[in-house]
Amino acid sequence: MFKALVVEKDEESGKTSAAVTEISENDLPEGEVLVAVDYSTVNYKDGLCIGPGGGLVRNYPHVPGIDFAGTVEASDDDRYKPGDKVVLTGWRVGENRWGGYAQKARVPADFLVPLPEGLDTRQAMAVGTAGFTAMLAVMALEDQGIKEGPILVTGAAGGVGSVATAILANLGHEVAAVTGRPEQEEYLRGLGATEIVARDELTEVTKKPLEAERWGGCVDAVAGAMLGRVLKQMRYGGSVAAIGLAGGAAIEGALITPFILRGVNLLGIDSVMQPHDNRLRAWERIAKDLPMDKLEAMVQPASLSDLPGLGRDILKGQVKGRVVVDVNA
Ligand code: NDP
Repeated sequence: MFKALVVEKDEESGKTSAAVTEISENDLPEGEVLVAVDYSTVNYKDGLCIGPGGGLVRNYPHVPGIDFAGTVEASDDDRYKPGDKVVLTGWRVGENRWGGYAQKARVPADFLVPLPEGLDTRQAMAVGTAGFTAMLAVMALEDQGIKEGPILVTGAAGGVGSVATAILANLGHEVAAVTGRPEQEEYLRGLGATEIVARDELTEVTKKPLEAERWGGCVDAVAGAMLGRVLKQMRYGGSVAAIGLAGGAAIEGALITPFILRGVNLLGIDSVMQPHDNRLRAWERIAKDLPMDKLEAMVQPASLSDLPGLGRDILKGQVKGRVVVDVNA
């Protein structure tokens, strides 16, 4: 038997509740590889899966946790043997199949990536889904050719925003960090941001077809009114890597003008279904381009019993940086 955070649903009331409890290997889903989990993390989707909405969860009882890092305990696949260190992000693990909020997880071998050289399992989860996505966004901007001018990072004090800020600054780019939390200015400057932009400055919806050119590129975690404004402020030929919707599922106030008059690119980033080669490439880049002291500054440690509260906090946009869950604490 081992510990897991299990979410149950009361069929009559439709209410869900999450509690740390004991489960056994027999309870785990099918898969070729059994992993002894060291760490998982708290992402926005985890907040949804733990909470009463549960919109992403298909079946109850459910073990959330959309990412984990740990050590292979048993494997029916030639690519992995006991003792190998592995990382998992995406593939809807923790959403429609059981995930990382447990001391053991069983998954298909195709879902795993070997732990990149230079990272331990805790560092890999300090990066986690949010940091992996931030790296994919940076790579997508690079593929388009990064333009002159500051790169804007929205939702900057959150998970994706923090890692994107640190990577871009370390690569030598000027980073303008948008935050609704002015008290996080020192934290963001510590990650390498050279300019802090107040959230309010970019959330007013306007009918203007274009605004003064400001940003050479953008990693956007927020969407909503902010993305509508940012598109109109992009410099000629600049790209926006859209990764999230913490501020709304629509692009409010957006017009076609930035695309046809300034050649702006809107790039959609999905970390869930990335092909294996891209995953390896992104993890290698993370190990190379993300300074570990900056990563450490983002980390807030947690245990399985802290998760229900942290799930609520992340949905309210109140979590700073990355929450790393030690499932054995
Ligand atoms: P976090 O909650 O850690 O960060 C989101 C940040 O957005 C907050 O910290 C806050 O930053 C800002 N924010 C929150 N609410 C609002 C609002 N109403 N208006 C403007 N800004 C707001 O989440 P993550 O960084 O982990 O994820 C961000 C988004 O990206 C989520 O929507 C998530 O689902 C998505 N995502 C998508 C992935 C993909 O594959 N495309 C992978 C991972 C995440 P501040 O206080 O600094 O303003």
